[in-house]
Amino acid sequence: MRQKPKVIYVAGSGRSGSTMLSLLLSQHPRIANLGQIRDVFLARSNGARCSCGALLGDCAVWGPVLSLRPSETHRLGTLPQDAVLAAYCVAFKATAARVAVDSSKSVDLCRLLQNAPEVDLYCLNLIRDPRAVAVSWSKVLGNQDLLRKRCRNWVARQKRIEQLEQGSGMHYLPLRYEDLVRDPKATVARIQTWAGVTPDLSAFESTTVARISWDHQHLFAPANETVLRERATRIQIAEAVAWKAAKHAQVRAMATEICFPFAKRYGYRLEVGL
Ligand SMILES: [Zn+2]
Repeated sequence: MRQKPKVIYVAGSGRSGSTMLSLLLSQHPRIANLGQIRDVFLARSNGARCSCGALLGDCAVWGPVLSLRPSETHRLGTLPQDAVLAAYCVAFKATAARVAVDSSKSVDLCRLLQNAPEVDLYCLNLIRDPRAVAVSWSKVLGNQDLLRKRCRNWVARQKRIEQLEQGSGMHYLPLRYEDLVRDPKATVARIQTWAGVTPDLSAFESTTVARISWDHQHLFAPANETVLRERATRIQIAEAVAWKAAKHAQVRAMATEICFPFAKRYGYRLEVGL
């Protein structure tokens, strides 16, 4: 029997390190990076370029996916299940991979894949301290109401993803960003074992330094804009701690008000070590 394509689906909130995680995982020779496939139609309408240098419509991976729905502008998860699965199948075929990382993060799309016998779903729930997430969002969102909404979404998404997992038997791995950056090499090894792929840590020079090949990457905005702009080929992974600075106290207080005490279940504490 032919093996089903496997999707390592990164769930959780934006601004949690999912672009970096997808880059690290896809250095494995058998794992392709599908970026945030859910946004591919929206990105086309915004004129986005792929990290391979081509316009999305001309990209070897995204061109065939986009040609399935030439005038579509909606997010993938809003389309009928057969249209969504067709997009995944075409993307898999274009990458020639049997395993792909998808950083779409939408719970609805995760549920759709969970109910699709055509794919083997591995749900990787990436969780980051919601105060750090809020400070990161505050740098790209000027509007306080939108920021509050993002904080409420952080809680709502975690509740929904946990509900999705409970009693489902789905392959599921919760992962804190803070644990990932503390020991990325060991974390990637753990994910490879969990996802049933042959261990390969050859990209790592040390526990926290990895060489990054962009040859097989097809990422596009809204993947992390700094990562896309810098296209680093060697990265030193370290926890981003700028969110703890005094100037972000107001944003942290807002995130604390909305996300705590719920966030304590992931080991986050009210003290931020200032
Ligand atoms: Zn491309």
